[in-house]
Amino acid sequence: MQVVPGIEYVDETSPAHIYVLDDGGEITLIDAGLPNEAPKVLAYLERSGRSAQQVKRIVLTHRHGDHAGAVPELVAATGAVVYAHADEAAALVEQPAMPQNVQHLQDGDVLPVFEGLHAIAVPGHTSGHLCFYLPERKVLFTGDAMLNRGGISGPSAQHTPDVSRAHTSLREKIASLEVETLCVAHGDVIAQGAGQRLRAAIAALAV
Ligand SMILES: [Zn+2]
Repeated sequence: MQVVPGIEYVDETSPAHIYVLDDGGEITLIDAGLPNEAPKVLAYLERSGRSAQQVKRIVLTHRHGDHAGAVPELVAATGAVVYAHADEAAALVEQPAMPQNVQHLQDGDVLPVFEGLHAIAVPGHTSGHLCFYLPERKVLFTGDAMLNRGGISGPSAQHTPDVSRAHTSLREKIASLEVETLCVAHGDVIAQGAGQRLRAAIAALAV
């Protein structure tokens, strides 16, 4: 499903979206879905006329199984390099079959995707949670730092060990960004005009 030109998500994955960034045929995935979802990703690529070998990077927002579960199978199929914050990487490499050479990202790092894919540290949901931002395109990938299930919100309190830190992170790191397109992991993607609603949602978060 196309969100905006060059940015899609894999149809039919559940519960978290897997984003496909196609930069002139060089593909970056943001998150990787549940352990059993690699075939869906590979089928999506094939259906859209692409090969698994075009996937160069798998960039993870955080360690949870609905975001990183299919990494081992996808790496085996594509040869992609995996990127995550050091805290997340440390947890991931403990898991069976997970690649051991996860590349570390920290706040402010920029990956060579489109005009530059910026990593933004937004701790709270996990200690090393990252959002990703394309400033020229004004596209924000929130991971689990924000949801859009019947309205934009902060992370699920039930699944977030430090909600207060998560909210502070959003106020300090996300509220001032110029955002047109909001790509949440859970819930509805907003293709255009997300900025105002995003800022209002962050302003409404509990202190
Ligand atoms: Zn999560």
